[in-house]
Amino acid sequence: MKEALRIIETVRKQNRKFLLEHEAKRLCELFNIPVAKSVLVKTIEEAVKVADEIGYPVVLKIVSPDIVHKSDIGGVKLNIKDPEGVKENFLEIMENVKKRKPKARIEGFLVQEMVPQGTEVIVGAIKDPFFGHAVMFGLGGIFVEVLRDVSFRIVPITRDDAYQMIRETKAYPILEGYRTGGPRDVEAVVEILFNVSRMLEKIKAIKELDLNPIMVYEKGKGAKVVDARIFLE
Ligand code: ADP
Ligand code: MG
Repeated sequence: MKEALRIIETVRKQNRKFLLEHEAKRLCELFNIPVAKSVLVKTIEEAVKVADEIGYPVVLKIVSPDIVHKSDIGGVKLNIKDPEGVKENFLEIMENVKKRKPKARIEGFLVQEMVPQGTEVIVGAIKDPFFGHAVMFGLGGIFVEVLRDVSFRIVPITRDDAYQMIRETKAYPILEGYRTGGPRDVEAVVEILFNVSRMLEKIKAIKELDLNPIMVYEKGKGAKVVDARIFLE
């Protein structure tokens, strides 16, 4: 809990309204929410060294307090296969940022494990001035964006509530494995929802949270948060 509060304090001190990706992911880890492994680096040499340690393929992402949607400005590079690729993509991201967001302050780069494709789901949260925090669940892609097929619950929720939330969405059969090759790890998603609810109870300052996407794997193989955004009041 101490470290969690320290992260929030740092963000406040820097007059920021949102956590950088690595801060948001660290907060998730502190509440037992599994995230794609990543390390913040400052230089190309460091990036290559860390990529070796994490193991290829890796992902490279820009970290900046002035960039919320990283891929919109060419700040995310996936599936980098070797040190040469790390160097090239590092420079390419720098170029993209210079071109499209010249005033952005650069905190560094995230070197991240490239996680395998899974069934994509989204877990979110908002704080309502009247009801307090609510958690949201939805399947990724068109289910959320086009069909608005999502479910909500007021915090705190139990594991049983979490399971009901997942079952309520029309996309639930997809997680059960309908035409997608076997059931997905629904329990892992239940744990994430439950732990997000715990996080919101402890950290009242969170105004909005967006774990998008979360990759969900076969039953027993877990799930992993790939991108995390957290806004404060
Ligand atoms: P943005 O700030 O643009 O939302 P993301 O971190 O979500 O950036 O990256 C964009 C997309 O790249 C994600 O939606 C996901 O499909 C893919 N992606 C990002 N990180 C990883 C990763 N570590 N492993 C696999 N795919 C990833
Ligand atoms: Mg994202």
